[in-house]
Amino acid sequence: MTSLEKNLAEIVKQDELEKEVLVDVKNVKKYFPIKGGILKRTVGHLKAVDDISFQIHKGETLGIVGESGSGKSTLGRVMLRLLNPTEGIISFNDVDISKLNKKEMNKYRRDMQIVFQDPFASLNSKMSVGELIEEPLIVQTSLSKTERKQKAAEMIEKVGLRRSDLQKYPHEFSGGQRQRISIARALVLDPKFVICDEPVSALDVSIQAQVLNLMKDLQDELGLTYLFIAHDLSVVKHISDRVAVMYLGRIAEIAPKKELYNNPLHPYTKGLLSSIPVVDTNESASISRERIKLSGDLPSPANPPSGCTFRTRCPLAHDKCVTDRPELIEKEDGHFVACHLYS
Ligand code: SF4
Repeated sequence: MTSLEKNLAEIVKQDELEKEVLVDVKNVKKYFPIKGGILKRTVGHLKAVDDISFQIHKGETLGIVGESGSGKSTLGRVMLRLLNPTEGIISFNDVDISKLNKKEMNKYRRDMQIVFQDPFASLNSKMSVGELIEEPLIVQTSLSKTERKQKAAEMIEKVGLRRSDLQKYPHEFSGGQRQRISIARALVLDPKFVICDEPVSALDVSIQAQVLNLMKDLQDELGLTYLFIAHDLSVVKHISDRVAVMYLGRIAEIAPKKELYNNPLHPYTKGLLSSIPVVDTNESASISRERIKLSGDLPSPANPPSGCTFRTRCPLAHDKCVTDRPELIEKEDGHFVACHLYS
């Protein structure tokens, strides 16, 4: 494919993505109570997710990036209702699922799956690979034993392993292979939406690209929509259509992938990008970004700084940043940023 054809294909895909919303997150908050004193009264709240809104379109991959403690994994669990939101609305295929009870939520469980970071911890070591992949089918479907076995056999091949691997146990596989098994287990129910929670972070760099390529291929083949969580902008670059950067429970910046990497606006995004080693390609040579060195640690979400929560680490902080919280505003088409430098 020529570069012109590639650009056209990307524009067509972007147009398609803009058409249909699969997941709509509106003003979602997740606060955990902090208990104190002899009576264990609530003395404060840890604001893990603090008023977040965004949409994910059918067939799209939205990357969510932030340091450990930024709230990105909590957000993923709230979106799947593995945790209840404190406030806000989560719509899936135009149905508000944020207040459904357990029984009502079961209807949507098979459409919404998650792949966890650590395939060792998420796979029961006492079960064979075949049993692990069949388990969701037993819980969520009325398929016969033969049908389940057939489905598991098809799925194990789709993730690049052999049918004979179904008889083996998780400890007989490498980290990358175990993650392939986790992916097979998540996809065996034919979900529409998959949250990938740092699925390659525990893998060797050489294996990461193989698993990312597999996930991309499966997305194209099965028409999946992904929320891809990572702590590193370099990991989500390959797989995402758009990227959101989270800081202390809020979105600092969200934009189409190319726009975010070529024209980052938020000082925190610039800091995260500055920490990625630049490979000298034609593309990277044409991008000269302001480099910002991130120093200090993420403040506690139990006691976030006033105003802009990034101000304690921001080299461009000024008076307004201490008193006023910046709202997420659209600076360019589809490119949103929460920073007083742009308001
Ligand atoms: Fe920095 Fe102020 Fe922008 Fe926050 S609002 S990122 S402190 S310049």
